[in-house]
Amino acid sequence: MPVEKRHPIPVKEAIHRVLQQEIYTSSERMSLYECEGYILAEDIVATYDIPRFDKSPYDGFAIRSEDSQGASQEHRIAFQVIDHIGAGTVSAKTLEPGQAVRIMTGAQIPAGADAVVMLEQTVETEDGFTLRKSFKHLENISLQGEETATGDVVLHKGQRINAGAVAVLATFGYSEVPVFRKPTAAIIATGSELLEVEDDLEPGKIRNSNGPMIAALLQREGVQVERYRIQVDDYESSLAVVKSALEKHDMVITTGGVSVGDFDYLPDIYRALEAEVLFNKVAMRPGSVTTVAVAHGKYLFGLSGNPSACYSGFELFTKPAIYHMMGATRYYPAIVRATLMADFKKANPFTRFVRADVTMTGREMTVKPSGFNKSGAVVSIAHSNGMMMLPGGTRGYQIGHEVEVLLTSPETYQQELYL
Ligand code: AMP
Ligand code: MG
Repeated sequence: MPVEKRHPIPVKEAIHRVLQQEIYTSSERMSLYECEGYILAEDIVATYDIPRFDKSPYDGFAIRSEDSQGASQEHRIAFQVIDHIGAGTVSAKTLEPGQAVRIMTGAQIPAGADAVVMLEQTVETEDGFTLRKSFKHLENISLQGEETATGDVVLHKGQRINAGAVAVLATFGYSEVPVFRKPTAAIIATGSELLEVEDDLEPGKIRNSNGPMIAALLQREGVQVERYRIQVDDYESSLAVVKSALEKHDMVITTGGVSVGDFDYLPDIYRALEAEVLFNKVAMRPGSVTTVAVAHGKYLFGLSGNPSACYSGFELFTKPAIYHMMGATRYYPAIVRATLMADFKKANPFTRFVRADVTMTGREMTVKPSGFNKSGAVVSIAHSNGMMMLPGGTRGYQIGHEVEVLLTSPETYQQELYL
């Protein structure tokens, strides 16, 4: 068969083609304790005000502010304490002039009171306390509905559920949360040179590192993974495996076999599946042969076999697609600007993605390559938390240049404390 001519498309266009697909997961109910990291499937509306009642933000005394008018160092005003309440308790009493109720943080303000005096601002007396300053109407009171009023949308459909969202859901009594199901994924590493992790090395062979790497990347997103056995470069058997994986999973991720080599069978497999190939050549290095196709409403990610290219392909296309499928409103990677700390003299016509170490705290953001930089490199991936994006062109890049960096790792731990 003649070698097909492929036309590279810009990375941005490729990402858009992936995310234009209308492939979504269904919604389901998830326990409050397991919903972190999921995408919310419905707006959450406040069914009552927060705070639910006027309450005290301090330990102290609830008073009538008018009774404190004219108080000063020389003219302390005395109050009589008529009740004593903690959080969760409501006083049955109504304050009369000169009266106060001892109140704890979180307790409901008693009837008649309109200000709270902090304990530290008082001097104890036989039957109460004195104070030396006047208080304003509603001073030191957390007002009912000051944060959220009944009917407010407090969480939005499409947002990622974080710990704060879990707290809000708990506040409104959601023990079960409406979320979008996470997609399931099949991982199929292809290549006759590949050995399983536990295999002994043989001449000309290498261990499959892409499979476990992609499994780890998916695990971080909470995606359930089925790991298939390594597929040798054989059209018939690979087609059968991809076909059965496609029936079982929302996405099939293959590594290797997408180039135009004699034993690269993925293009033939897409043809046999009558898949719509969204692209099979991207103007980027590494991973220009990365292919994304859609068949029967499911994604097929044909990632390059080269580890660095495989990693980049996942970060650029697979990860955003996962969140897009789950109905997330935010699914694009974070891109920041940082000062380059190493030279990149050699120009390249394609946009280059370089696995990189970004330092994010301190006074400025800096970035440097995280190790040996070739598409086959694997160690540098381990030391990266981002990818520098160096647009193609005639000039190279030098120390001190501002470059764009795509953040890949959610880890923000730093070696030093910048406080
Ligand atoms: P391919 O994309 O199949 O042309 O493979 C490109 C390069 O990546 C070759 O050097 C392969 O040996 C290597 N490679 C392919 N698959 C894997 C894998 N699963 N783990 C590690 N390296 C791989
Ligand atoms: Mg191969």
